[in-house]
Amino acid sequence: MTYDTTVAIPDPASARDAYRQHARTWLQANLPAHMRADSLEYRNPTLAECRDWEAAMYQVGLAGMTWPKQYGGYGLSLREHLAVNKEIGALAMPDSVSSISKELAGPIIMAVGTEEQKQAFLPAILEMREYWCQGFSEPDAGSDLARLRTKAVQEGDSWRINGQKIWTSGAAKAHYCLLLTRTGVVADKHRGLLMFAVPMDTPGIRVVPIKSIDGKDSFAEVFFDDVVVPDSARLGAEDEGWSAAIRVLGIERATNRMYRPWRFECELRQLVQACKSDPALSRLLDDGYYQRRIGEVVAQIDAHKGLVERTVDLMMAGEGIGARGSLTKLYWSECHQAFASLALQLVSHVNPGSSPLARRARKHFTTAYLFARAETIYAGTSEVQLDVIAQRILQLPKDL
Ligand SMILES: Cc1cc2nc3c(=O)[nH]c(=O)nc-3n(C[C@H](O)[C@H](O)[C@H](O)COP(=O)(O)OP(=O)(O)OC[C@H]3O[C@@H](n4cnc5c(N)ncnc54)[C@H](O)[C@@H]3O)c2cc1C
Repeated sequence: MTYDTTVAIPDPASARDAYRQHARTWLQANLPAHMRADSLEYRNPTLAECRDWEAAMYQVGLAGMTWPKQYGGYGLSLREHLAVNKEIGALAMPDSVSSISKELAGPIIMAVGTEEQKQAFLPAILEMREYWCQGFSEPDAGSDLARLRTKAVQEGDSWRINGQKIWTSGAAKAHYCLLLTRTGVVADKHRGLLMFAVPMDTPGIRVVPIKSIDGKDSFAEVFFDDVVVPDSARLGAEDEGWSAAIRVLGIERATNRMYRPWRFECELRQLVQACKSDPALSRLLDDGYYQRRIGEVVAQIDAHKGLVERTVDLMMAGEGIGARGSLTKLYWSECHQAFASLALQLVSHVNPGSSPLARRARKHFTTAYLFARAETIYAGTSEVQLDVIAQRILQLPKDL
């Protein structure tokens, strides 16, 4: 598939909304029907198709908007990032196959990486030449990451790494792992944590895929058995690991996939259109119960948009995200999970004689429902977000 990447990228200062308009026009003209989840022509896109699509988006200025120009970015502000995300959300396009690279690894490399690391890694991420995975969670360290055991021992100019990670999304396709290790003992907790950029083809790394409830092999266990990396693979200084990890988690909770409420609205539109296309499902929409539930969803989408826009305003004003990320994470995951249950309830009435759009919606929302079970777990569980809100935003004492 080839895309039109010859279009001129507008100067955002040229006209109000110029960048958003550019994103809308290009995405609508170029997104193939077989990659639109709400199209009857949809078929699961391959990794290569997603890679080519995202590489084309980057070439026309729809990725790397806020990254500095010297590392391949467009040197724009979060305003343009938000404007583009609104248009990405408005179309039922595939989620990025490299969001961990672009939204977690990239920002952390920019924050703590050396100049050589920035030059080596950042353009390759934007050009979709290299994917990253995030090796934080372990069998005994998820919510409480400070219990992680994967050990890094310095041996002259290199490090020897032993341990195990789990739930590592995209590990099987990743070229690099953003790996969190410890140099001391578990009792040191937040001290002595060290982050690495580990090439996934280093001898001693074993990736064992885990099948998730939606039938995909999207995450894995990753074993590190006497893995030796040079000191140049270290990201940041010893003891910087914890603050770097917290920064990654803050980004993950607040700004990762900023398009979410707009995509949520797009999914609601898809659901309602599918119901309207079928006489039996259409009758359900006349039912007060479903009308009230859908009304709630509309209100939640609006509030969610407000949360995202407020976060952008605060960041533009120079404020850190801090614990605020937990509000956004808690809200979108709980609301979207409830919506996925409602959608499943509606599409469970679809049968082989239903309209084609209704049958397409049944497939889509059954998968969405299964994946939504994970939404209140990954990037920090709802219980953990509630603790953060209680203790860090409301300043309530720690529950003993
Ligand atoms: C789809 C998916 C993708 C993921 N991708 C990645 C990835 O790419 N990289 C990565 O490193 N990790 C990844 N994870 C792991 C994820 O970050 C962890 O699952 C999550 O942090 C929870 O940790 P845990 O599974 O060990 O559960 P636990 O921490 O053991 O929690 C178990 C239960 O106890 C509750 N609990 C724990 N502590 C508290 C507390 N203090 N107060 C109240 N309740 C508490 C939790 O809310 C939860 O209900 C992914 C997870 C999923 C589901």
